[in-house]
Amino acid sequence: MAKISINIATGSLQQKEMIVGIDLGTTNSLVAIIHPESKKPVALKEHNSSSLVPSVIHFGQNGNVVVGEEARLYLETDPRNTIFSAKRLMGKSYNDIKSHEDFFAYKVIDDDKESLVKIQVGDKFYSPVELSSFILKELKTRAEHILKTPVAKAVITVPAYFNDAQRQATRDAGKLAGLDVLRIINEPTAASLAYGLGLNSDEEKTIAVYDLGGGTFDISILKIAGGIFEVLSTNGDTYLGGDDFDRAIAEYWVEKHGIDNEQLRHNKELAQLLRLKAEEAKKHLGMADGFAATLRGMELHISRKEFDGLVKPLIDKTIKCCAAALKDAALAAGEIETVVMVGGSTRVPAVKEAVSKFFEQPVNDSVNPDEVVALGAAVQADILAGNNKDFLLLDITPLSLGIETSGGLMDVLIPRNSKIPIKAGRQYTTQKDGQSGMRISVYQGERDLVNDNRKLAEFNLTGIPAMPAGLPKVDVGFLINADGILMVTAKELRSGVEQSIKVKPQYGLTDDEVEQMLQDSIQHAGTDMQTRALVEARNEAGHLLETVEKFIDRNNSLLNRDELSATATAMQALQLALTMDDKNLIRTKTEELNEITRPFAERIMDIAVGEALKGQKL
Ligand code: ADP
Ligand code: MG
Repeated sequence: MAKISINIATGSLQQKEMIVGIDLGTTNSLVAIIHPESKKPVALKEHNSSSLVPSVIHFGQNGNVVVGEEARLYLETDPRNTIFSAKRLMGKSYNDIKSHEDFFAYKVIDDDKESLVKIQVGDKFYSPVELSSFILKELKTRAEHILKTPVAKAVITVPAYFNDAQRQATRDAGKLAGLDVLRIINEPTAASLAYGLGLNSDEEKTIAVYDLGGGTFDISILKIAGGIFEVLSTNGDTYLGGDDFDRAIAEYWVEKHGIDNEQLRHNKELAQLLRLKAEEAKKHLGMADGFAATLRGMELHISRKEFDGLVKPLIDKTIKCCAAALKDAALAAGEIETVVMVGGSTRVPAVKEAVSKFFEQPVNDSVNPDEVVALGAAVQADILAGNNKDFLLLDITPLSLGIETSGGLMDVLIPRNSKIPIKAGRQYTTQKDGQSGMRISVYQGERDLVNDNRKLAEFNLTGIPAMPAGLPKVDVGFLINADGILMVTAKELRSGVEQSIKVKPQYGLTDDEVEQMLQDSIQHAGTDMQTRALVEARNEAGHLLETVEKFIDRNNSLLNRDELSATATAMQALQLALTMDDKNLIRTKTEELNEITRPFAERIMDIAVGEALKGQKL
C-alpha cells in the first residue's frame, strides 16, 4: 500500500491519496489525519482558526449555502433557514422526533409520520442525508485546501447507539459529499483509539467513555480484547449538553437584570448576544473564579461557585446515566479500568470532578476533548490504509449487499467493508391486499437504484396466506460465513413460510471492477440521491392516494359534497404531479392532500369512538 509524504515546509504532496478521519458531530464537526512525519494524529485547521466547524447550515435568499461559523450567526436572526443538529434527524421518522418538535426552529415535515423526515426550507425539501452532506462537503473542501491534495476517502464516526438505518444514512451523506466512506466507527471506539487503547492486540480492558457535547450526552461501557471493541452498554440523554449550561447562565442573568422573556422573544439579537456571552462565561470559568462583562449597558457577572450551583442538577443527571450504564453492563464502578473524557463540555471542572468521583479514579483528559473523536478516526483510517503494519486487516466485504425494494431502490443489509463472518436482517411487508408471493432480488454495489448494481440472485417466497397489505411480516436475513458465502433467507413470520438461497458474492469480480463500481457510485451520488428521493416521494404519494381512496369508499356518506370535491381535486393534482419528475411538486401536493383529509380522519375517528361508547353501559 502506498505511503503518503507531505513536505510540510512547502505544503506539497507526493501522493494523491489521503484517508481522513471525520467526527460528524451534532454541534461541531472536524477532520483529522495522521501526520505523515510525526505519525501522530492531528486535527486539520487553517492558520489562526479553530479546527471545529459548527454543524450549522444556512440557506440564503440567493440560493447561497454556507456552513460553519458563518452559518451559526443566523441561528437567532434567520431560524427558518438555518439548520442545526441535522444529526439528530438521521434515519428518523417524524414519529421518532415529534416529542421534541419545539427544539427545531426550522420546518420539519409531518406528512407521512412513519417515513423518514424531511426539512422544508423555502420551497425546497431536504433529507437529513442531504443536510449532513453539506457539512461533509465543507469539511472535504477545507481539508483539500489545507492539505493541497484531493481528499476522497474517509472514516466517519457515529454514536455507539446509532442503528443500521442511521449508519447507512451517514454513509450516504458521505457518498453524496463525494467521499468514499471506508468505515463507520463508533465515537467511543474512536476516542479510545486516540488514547492508544485497543492498539495492542494482547491488551484486555474494560473502559468507560464519558461524552458530553453541545446538546447530547453519551456514556458507553466498552470491552477491549484482541483489538476488538465490544459495546457492553450505552446510556445517555439526547437532549442534555453544554447548550443547557449556556442557557442556565443566560437565564440567571435574565432573572438578575429583570429582562422579561417577552422582550427577549422579540429581540432576537439580544437573545443571541446573551447566549454567546453565556458561552464565553462558561469557558472562562474553567480557568478563573469569576467572569464579568458588559452587554448593552448591563453589568453581567457570575462566579465559579454560582455557575457550579447552576449546573449541578445537569451534571447529576449524567451521573445517573453512568450508574444505569454500569448496571446494564453488570459492572461496579471500581471494575472500570480507564475513564476517557470526550466532548467540549468535559472541560468544565465540575464535570471532571463528578465523573472522577463516581468512577473512583482520575479521568483521562490529556487529549483535546473536542478533537479526540476525529483523532481516533484518523488512527482507524491509517490502519485501513495499511500504514500501520502491526495491524492485520480482517476479511471484509468489498461491496455492499442488499435487496430490491419498491420503485427499484437498493436497500443495503450489509454495508461494504464489514468484517466477515457477519449476520444482518430486516423486516419487510407486502404492498397489495392478498399478496401471496414476494420476490427477493439480491444485489451487490453502492448505487441507489438496483439497476445500476450487480444482481447476484433472485427467488420467490410463495405461499403467504391472504392478508391485507402491510400485515405480513417477512424477515429477510443475510449471513456471510467465514468463507465469504452469502446465504439469504426470507421467512413470513405469521405463517412460517420460508425460503432461502446461497450465493458467492465475490465470484467473477476483479479488484478493478470493484474499484470501478465504487468510483461510479461516488460520481453518480448526486443524481442517485435525487432519483432515490423522487422514487421515495412517489412511493409515499402512491401510498397516500391508495389510503385516501379506500377511506373515501368506506366513509363516503360521512363527508359532505364540498369535502368530497376538495378531496377529489387534491387527488387529481397529486396524480398529475406523479406524471412529472419533480420531487418537490410531488411533496407539496402530498402535503396538500394530507392537509385536506386529516380533519376527516380525525372526525371519523371521533364518530367511531362515540359509537363504541354508545354501546357501553356505565
Ligand atoms: P458535539 O459532539 O455535540 O458536536 P462538542 O464536543 O464539540 O459537541 O462540544 C460542544 C460543546 O462544548 C459546546 O456546548 C461548547 O460550548 C462546549 N465547550 C467548548 N469548549 C468549552 C470549554 N472550554 N468549557 C466549557 N465548555 C466548552
Ligand atoms: Mg461529539
